[in-house]
Amino acid sequence: MSGTAKRIEIQAAQRLKTLMRDYFLDLDEAARDPARRVAWCTSVGPCEILVAFGFATYFPENHGALLGAKKISHQLIPYAVSAGYCAESCSYMNSDIGAAIRGVSPLQDAYGVGGPPKPDLLVYSTNQCREVQDWFNFFGRRHDAPVLGVCPPTHLGDVTPAHVAFVRGELAGLIERIESQFGLKLAPGKLEETVARSSQASTLWRRVLETAGARPATLSFWDGLIHMAPVILMRGSPAAVAYYRELLAEMHDRVAQGVGAVPKERFRVYWEGMPVWPRVRDLSEKCFDLGVSVAASTYCNSWAFDEYDGGDPLEWMARTSISIFINRDEATKQAFLLEMMRRYELDGIIFHNARTCPNNTNSRFGMAQRLRDRCGLAVLVIDGDLSDQRFFSTAQTMTNLEAFVEQLEARRRPACAALVEEVAP
Ligand code: SF4
Repeated sequence: MSGTAKRIEIQAAQRLKTLMRDYFLDLDEAARDPARRVAWCTSVGPCEILVAFGFATYFPENHGALLGAKKISHQLIPYAVSAGYCAESCSYMNSDIGAAIRGVSPLQDAYGVGGPPKPDLLVYSTNQCREVQDWFNFFGRRHDAPVLGVCPPTHLGDVTPAHVAFVRGELAGLIERIESQFGLKLAPGKLEETVARSSQASTLWRRVLETAGARPATLSFWDGLIHMAPVILMRGSPAAVAYYRELLAEMHDRVAQGVGAVPKERFRVYWEGMPVWPRVRDLSEKCFDLGVSVAASTYCNSWAFDEYDGGDPLEWMARTSISIFINRDEATKQAFLLEMMRRYELDGIIFHNARTCPNNTNSRFGMAQRLRDRCGLAVLVIDGDLSDQRFFSTAQTMTNLEAFVEQLEARRRPACAALVEEVAP
């Protein structure tokens, strides 16, 4: 067991705190400055276009995660339900709507701001789910602000040139609508510059995650949940690029010195699906005590995009936005998971069956069983939710985790090299 080993904090976390404070204070200022504009955007939406136009960008999903992490989502969701939203719809959306109705926000205590900034524009992409469309429409009505969206093809196997061309057209249309609605003109070269920075931050983030291939893993899924904030919230900014350079240097030092997130690492596993925000600390401590490194995850890799090598920035945005894991078909997702298991030399996989997010849950159509029965992987499925703690039993999950580790002990590590074998869903 690793219970007596000391956890070594990631030094860059201090810098991250300053970065987050500056980000939210600037958003607050932008919302109050008549010369500036705020746009709300979905987490894998076309934020580079908004940044290139000069909007300060805000991401409501981050607020949903904060409400979950502060363990108050379940108190707020009933307000959304009373406004007509189903209690089993996305708990990010419901708690965010409930928070607006109640006038509460963790941003008040954390940064001394009134709450989420008032939007001048809301832009979504349904590349992750359709829920974001309804979520943004609620706030569009509430703030009397325009809501624009792109609706790419979903559940893709191969991403074809026709798919990319279609989404590129949608993005070009979005630019035209913003120009006519706000009387703006996108400055020449601005989008290329923003996309290049966005891609740089994303590539650095990918390289940070890849350092967890070392033994012991340099950082865990739990660390990633904290350190991924800039690649979502500040995509396209120089600050995000600078931050990931610093974090990557620290991770390289860790590799050189043999420092790991779980110093006495006994097993290495994968986390598939959404985090359980209200219980991140409990789960992280339990894994630490059991000597389990959650060395890789779908969630943290969701913002590790392909590199932009110049050329048409809209084409890069179109391709990137539809190539993400959540937007792919079952076979592509399964192949990705197998490749991750092999690359990170993992012993098992934990699926989170998030009650209110079927879109980012992949244990509902037999994948967990296929990986277990046909690939010999140790698999655990945890029932819970991203934000609504009423759907999560801490005691039950901890017992299940202990049983999972016993299973790992019994099997020891499977021959990961054998996992490259193609397995049809
Ligand atoms: S992907 Fe899931 S958690 Fe994210 S906004 Fe959509 S339904 Fe909510």
